[in-house]
This record gives sequence, C-alpha cells and structure tokens, in this order.
Amino acid sequence: MKEIVCKLLVIGAGPGGYICAIRAGQLGVDTVIVEAVKAGGTCLNIGCIPSKALIHAAEEFERVSHMAAAKSPLGISVETPKLDLTKTVAWKDGIVGRLNSGVLGLLRKAKVKIVHGRATFRDGKTVEVETETGTQVIRAETVVIATGSEPVELPSLPFGGPVISSTEALSLKAVPQKLVVVGGGYIGLELGIAFAKMGSAVTVVEATPQLLPQYDAELVKPVVKRLGELGVRVVTGAKARGLSGETLLIETTEGEERLAADKILVTVGRKPRTEGWGLDELDLDRAGKFLRIDERCRTSMRGVHAIGDITGEPMLAHRAMAQGEMVAEIVAGKKRTWDKRCIPAVCFTDPEIVTAGFSPDEARAQGFEIRVGQFPFNANGRAMTTLSEDGFVRVVARADTNLVLGIQAVGAGVSELSSTFALAIEMGARLEDVAATIHAHPTRSEGFQEAALKALGHALHI
Ligand code: FAD
Ligand code: NAD
Repeated sequence: MKEIVCKLLVIGAGPGGYICAIRAGQLGVDTVIVEAVKAGGTCLNIGCIPSKALIHAAEEFERVSHMAAAKSPLGISVETPKLDLTKTVAWKDGIVGRLNSGVLGLLRKAKVKIVHGRATFRDGKTVEVETETGTQVIRAETVVIATGSEPVELPSLPFGGPVISSTEALSLKAVPQKLVVVGGGYIGLELGIAFAKMGSAVTVVEATPQLLPQYDAELVKPVVKRLGELGVRVVTGAKARGLSGETLLIETTEGEERLAADKILVTVGRKPRTEGWGLDELDLDRAGKFLRIDERCRTSMRGVHAIGDITGEPMLAHRAMAQGEMVAEIVAGKKRTWDKRCIPAVCFTDPEIVTAGFSPDEARAQGFEIRVGQFPFNANGRAMTTLSEDGFVRVVARADTNLVLGIQAVGAGVSELSSTFALAIEMGARLEDVAATIHAHPTRSEGFQEAALKALGHALHI
C-alpha cells in the first residue's frame, strides 16, 4: 500500500476544493487533492457551465425561431431554424472539456499533487483512496472536506427511466416533446425555460404557492410573465405523487391530475454528499444535514475544515471558491476570517434575477428603517433598443445613513450587474456614492444609478 504524507489534503476538486488547493500551492503549502470523478466538480461538469451553455443555445434558437415566425420588429426575416441537440450537447461538452483540462493545468502549475479516486476516511487525518494503480493512503496535518452536493431524490419518484435529474437533462439526445419539471426553483426554471425555447411543451409543478420562493414576488413577476409567453404551464401549490403508467400523478389544490410526459425532470433541491465514505464515523457536528462550520470554515474536529455545498446554503460556486481561498490562506498561516458583507446570487432565468444583500423585507426583519428606490427598465434607453424592457433595479438603504443594504434586479442581462452590486455593498457605499458615480450611457447599469437617485427623492428619468 502506497502512502503520502502532506501538510494539506483537499477532498473533492469542485470550485471549493480546486481553488483551495491552487491557493495553498501558490503559498508553498505541500498540498494533495483527491477527486473521485472529474476536476471542476458539479459546477464545471454537470452544473453552472453546461447549464449556461444550454441556456445560451436555447436563447439563440428561440430568437431565430421568433424571427422566422415574422415576429421580429427589427425587419429581419429568416428561414425556419432547426436544432440538432446532439450537436448542441457536443459543443457544450467541448467547453466543459476545455475548462476541465484548464483546472488540472492550474493545479499542476501550483505544484498540487492530484490523486484520482474516491477518498474514504480512516480517521480525521488519514484517508484511503482506491486508485487505478491500487490503494493509496494519504496522511495530512490539515484536511479540507469539499465533497459538494447531489440532487435530492423524491421517494415517490426515484431517478431512472423517464425520471431524470439535472445531470441527465444536460446531456439529452433529443428535445423532449413533453417535459414536466417538478420543483420550480433555480434549476427547474433555468432548464425548464431552456427546453421551452428549444420546443418542449413544459409544465412546472411547484410545491409552494410561488415559483422561486426564495425571492420576493415582485422580482419573480417578470419571469412568470415570460413563462406565459413561452407557453409554459405553471402549477403552484402542487406535489408530484408518482408515476401512474405513462403519466405523472400530481396533487394540486383542486385535486389530483395526470400529466403526460416524455421526461420528468426532478429539481427539488440538493443535499450534502456526506454518506458512504466514512465521514459519519468522524461524528462532526451538523447544521441540519450539512456540516457545521465557524467563521474560519473549521468543523468541530481540530484540523478539519469544510467548504462549499457540504456546509449549506447558499449552495453557490462563488461562495465555495471564496471559502476555499480563505481556508488555504489560514492553513498557510495568514489571519483570515469570513467577513463578507454579501454573496450575490444570480438566477439565469429569462429574464435574469440578481440579488445582493438584503431585500426590503429582510432589511426590515433585521430592524432597519429603510428607504427603497426602484427604477423600471421600460424607462431605460438601452433596454428599449434591445427589445427587453421588462424588469427593474431596486436599491434598499438605511433611512438614517443611506448606507446601501441590498440591491435586486430583474431583467435581460442583469447577471453582469451582480459584481457592481456586490462591490457597492462590500465597499460600504451610500446612496449618494451610487448616485454620484457617472454611469456610461446608454447602458442598463444606469438603472442602478437612477434607483439610488429615486431613493434619494430625485430620480431624473422617471
Ligand atoms: P462540487 O462542485 O459538488 O464538487 C465536489 C467534488 O467532490 C465532486 O467533483 C465530487 O466528485 C468530489 N467528491 C465527492 N466525494 C468524494 C470523495 N469521497 N473522494 C473524492 N472526491 C469526492 N452555482 C452557481 O454559483 N452558479 C450557477 O449558475 C450554478 N448553476 C448550477 C446549475 C446546476 C444544474 C447545478 C446542479 C448546480 C449549479 N450551481 C450553480 C451550484 C454549484 O454547482 C455548486 O454550488 C458548486 O459546484 C459547489 O462546489 P463544491 O466545491 O462545494 O462541490
Ligand atoms: P431550489 O431549492 O432552488 O428549488 C427547489 C424547488 O423545489 C423549491 O421551489 C421547492 O419549493 C420545490 N419543491 C420541493 N419539494 C417539492 C415537491 N415534492 N414537489 C414540487 N416542488 C417541490 O433547488 P434546485 O433548483 O434543485 O437547485 C439546487 C441548488 O443549486 C440551489 O439551491 C442553488 O443553490 C444551486 N443552483 C444555483 C444556480 C445559480 O446560481 N444560477 C443554478 C442552479 C442551481
């Protein structure tokens, strides 16, 4: 049995783990990373990147289809387009492959040792990995658990046959004629909208009374409108009960209903990957199903850190990366602690939704007296010239000091405003700072400046 002794062992090479290992390597820490499947983890291989590739392809197809149906006011006409999903998926796989080799290259450049195989804990400082060349034992002074998350399976609707998770949805051979999406959250709506644009008849079944229940109703409204335009049927307050022959049985507020479907995409959340690899025996403290961590990502066992999805919400790649970078610096002896003011979130629906910091309700619940400024995109020149006037930017600030507490937006392309929003909050901007910053014209970002001006009581364009 081969044995490696190192200073830092990172388990899992998703965005949390690979960033942690690269940064540790850059700082001269003797680092080993173990990955069971493919470097890049969920995000790069079966999550963020492939889903955004498919969403983009679907957008392009829908745009051309719209023109072909002579609905374009721009005076452009085209022949009826066709979509070959196998080619789309091959293009997507090419992007994933490029990024995958890129991550491996970056790890090597940082002098990180990469071990391929599934790690199993022997004790808090030792793992065993079954590799192609035999069992490898790795002992480390510090261990970082970054094993991520996996889709939640509904007991009444186990994965298999027509019932698929996001992983299979990203590699289908043909566009399903009838697609039922169970769970109208992030993944269900991002992919449900993409398949509707590619030609599927989509029904979304959501348990709560509102789609995307994590956002306030006002932010979700433009997405609901667009779903209607795309012909997506939405059934809220409804739960899937299981397959009944060729159909899906759902229970709605009005009774039972059967839905015909070629594919049933179940997207009812993700759970931490904690089982089946000896983690249970370490008996680390939990926060619900997730590992409990402190402000330095330390678990309840000395020398064992945890980062990313395994540590709970928000399960976002950029949070995992920021935690990974921080932990690497702590291991290298730097004084670091989690002091972020916000973690921006983007939902890549049509239109997109961005949030950073507190919503008006969250700010009030924190005890703040607030002022709110909102600016609609239908008063923004750039939005008019790109045929995408739905949505708005909203700024939430303390009423006494005008300190910006939160910024939300819904609209075409607003994902690219997420970093501006996060920067404003991280830098402690006040409404006056945003209002006094010259925003280039004509851009959608002017909506941010106008929302701040509105909160100050003197918007210029509404
Ligand atoms: P993961 O990326 O899950 O990586 C964990 C790695 O650990 C995996 O590679 C796994 O193989 C490995 N592993 C597990 N157990 C072991 C073991 N015992 N031994 C060795 N290796 C092991 N987030 C965003 O911020 N933006 C998005 O647009 C976005 N889109 C998404 C779309 C979809 C369809 C999905 C499913 C997720 C999306 N996410 C998005 C969420 C994002 O993918 C996760 O938040 C992110 O991947 C978490 O990173 P992580 O490092 O914690 O874990
Ligand atoms: P989610 O939590 O976003 O949505 C799950 C939805 O399913 C909720 O609306 C919930 O009410 C509903 N639901 C739960 N049980 C149900 C049932 N039995 N029947 C019908 N509906 C039910 O989860 P997700 O969409 O699976 O995504 C998982 C995580 O992945 C997200 O929390 C997010 O952190 C991450 N993600 C992020 C992005 C992004 O950043 N753009 C994209 C995709 C995924």
